[in-house]
Amino acid sequence: MTHGDWWMGIDLGGTNLRVSAVGAGGAVLASRAEDVLHHTADAAGSFGQVLAAAAKCVAELGSAPVAAGIGATGPVDVGARSIDNDFTLPPSLNGPVGAVLERALGIAVAAINDADAAALAEAWCGVAAGAQSCVSVTLGTGIGVGQVRDGRVVEGRDRRHAEAGHHTIDHRGLRCACGGRGCWELSASGTSIGVAMERLTGRRWRGADVAAAARAGDADALVVFDEYATAVAAGLGNVIAFTEPDVVVLGGGVTEDAALFLPAVRERLSAWWIHDPGAVRIEVGALGWRAGSVGAARAAMLVSGAGARTATALTARNDL
Ligand SMILES: [Zn+2]
Repeated sequence: MTHGDWWMGIDLGGTNLRVSAVGAGGAVLASRAEDVLHHTADAAGSFGQVLAAAAKCVAELGSAPVAAGIGATGPVDVGARSIDNDFTLPPSLNGPVGAVLERALGIAVAAINDADAAALAEAWCGVAAGAQSCVSVTLGTGIGVGQVRDGRVVEGRDRRHAEAGHHTIDHRGLRCACGGRGCWELSASGTSIGVAMERLTGRRWRGADVAAAARAGDADALVVFDEYATAVAAGLGNVIAFTEPDVVVLGGGVTEDAALFLPAVRERLSAWWIHDPGAVRIEVGALGWRAGSVGAARAAMLVSGAGARTATALTARNDL
């Protein structure tokens, strides 16, 4: 198979490791998904798993990528290409992972936050392609929010990623692991669906089972999804009020059941005067579980194309 130049994107979550080979136009040439091995016999720890997955991708394509990008959950120092997330990632995947990976693979490696990667991907070749500004909201274990304008990630002070999943929507609400109270992700993450159903029924539920129950007409599950829509809309309204994007892209496993809550989210948002109905598109992402890895590959492309490892080509400060 002739595929020309390609870039490797690695998406590193607390649960899943995903690797995609991406062509210059955004075509996914190959991709793989594995569970992250938190306990491994490999001397290199979980980092060895990432290297092995990268090697398999290279073997499948039969050529080396131009550059690679690694998108990771939690705080990522884009300049130093280091990851600082010992809450959900194994020890060997913390620290200057970008530089270590660069030495191991012999190619330039960019590092990016995973929510920013998802936004970059959808704005490049996904449902927000062609839009000037896009906010991506990943409804997963928590909520990751990334913002892209003119094809670049919007970043904050010290090149930080803004953690909009932790903005407060209920100041009297439950305490969050982040130290805040009533954070958006406590009531609108994918995880929160199972938690809400458990509170209602007194037994354990997986989110996918709640969705199946709702589709079958179960009254409790329908209540959970109705309240879920309200929680998603409340936070989304704030995000839109602060960023006013052309497109909001929703991602995460729960969007497979978007029919259970997205119509209500759109309806509730359209009742607010700040939301000109139809002006801000709210869409489910086109790239699905590959969004993070495609975005990491795009980050690698921007950095290698600019010939600048420091990733200044990747991001744009939100300067007026
Ligand atoms: Zn929080």
